[in-house]
Amino acid sequence: MTRLVVFLFCLVAAAPASWAKPSVTAARVGSHPAMTRFVLELSQAPVFEIFTLQDPYRVVIDLPEMDWRIPPEEVPRGQGVIEDLRFGLFQPGRSRVVLDVKTPVKVGKVQTLRPDGKVATHRLVIDLQTVSRSAFHTKNNRKIVSRTPLPAIQAAAVPTAPGKPPSDRRPTVVIDAGHGGVDPGARGVSGAVEKNLVLQYARELRRQLLASGRYRVVMTRDSDVVLPLRRRVARGEQAGGDLFISLHANIFKSRGVRGASVYTLSEKASDAEAEELAAKENKADVLSGVNLDGQSQDVSMILIDLAQRETMNLSKDFANTLVDALGKSTRLLPKPHRSAGFAVLKSPTVPSVLVEVGYMSNRSEEKLLRSRAHRKKISSAIIKAIDNYFKSHG
Ligand SMILES: [Zn+2]
Repeated sequence: MTRLVVFLFCLVAAAPASWAKPSVTAARVGSHPAMTRFVLELSQAPVFEIFTLQDPYRVVIDLPEMDWRIPPEEVPRGQGVIEDLRFGLFQPGRSRVVLDVKTPVKVGKVQTLRPDGKVATHRLVIDLQTVSRSAFHTKNNRKIVSRTPLPAIQAAAVPTAPGKPPSDRRPTVVIDAGHGGVDPGARGVSGAVEKNLVLQYARELRRQLLASGRYRVVMTRDSDVVLPLRRRVARGEQAGGDLFISLHANIFKSRGVRGASVYTLSEKASDAEAEELAAKENKADVLSGVNLDGQSQDVSMILIDLAQRETMNLSKDFANTLVDALGKSTRLLPKPHRSAGFAVLKSPTVPSVLVEVGYMSNRSEEKLLRSRAHRKKISSAIIKAIDNYFKSHG
């Protein structure tokens, strides 16, 4: 036995460095009159897919799952045609870089360079040329792929939620941690990142719900991955959800603003701030480089069927209960229940609310939001509201 352990230990110790996860070590932009050159430095020869998207114009570079080893201050932004750059996990096995570009562009020459005397890393060099709007539409349909292809995108990258077993009579609560992967969501004054913060709240809420024994719980995501808004809604429906709770954290230009708030779906926004917030939250798919295939991103609700009206009423009931419960344990925004056209709340069958747990733009609230004690407190308030809701609608 001892010998076996020693043998195994040696195997692990001798594992070559190449077993480490491949990484992106630098990103550079060269701005020239006729084109912008974008260079990624990588720890291994690049395997890639490159394509463009419109509304707004973006260049998407997919790579195998990689670590991003570039400090935030070294990420090139606002150079050449590149306005902004995001990186994150698109799905297990595939990382994504999204470049927001100022003009329509064509992906010109793409080169891969091996380490040489000057640079010790592999490089992926992409030339972007500004083209007219019409040239973008006629010439930009092709995807540029490396000789070794990336594994195909899995349609069911996020396992579909299991349906409800007929023997289980407990209500199903669907918890949706907002954003993820290449879409970080909002950033707080001291660096809290919405996608990570809300995943912690989602996990704490799940923990407490399961501990109660009264509910079935389904999470739309339980890792740092991209999940299109429609897929979140679909997961809630497939799971036979009785309640869908989307968790977010907000920021605002005036730092003094703080407090939790709850949102439901409505055709017309309750106020300008709710409308602005919905527009921001609905941009998640755009930020993630999700190809909407010409599907309208417009979430105006001109036609809402009867099922949706009934569901909207239930959502409002739950939102009212939730505001009461949250108000007993944390500070609320003035007029804490608001409404607008949030795409993630559009299920016609699952009553849905979106909770902004607070403002990360307020220094003391950001600090509070990051504390474990506050997560516990917010989660127990949400559970009180869930209990009350099912008492009257169970
Ligand atoms: Zn959000």
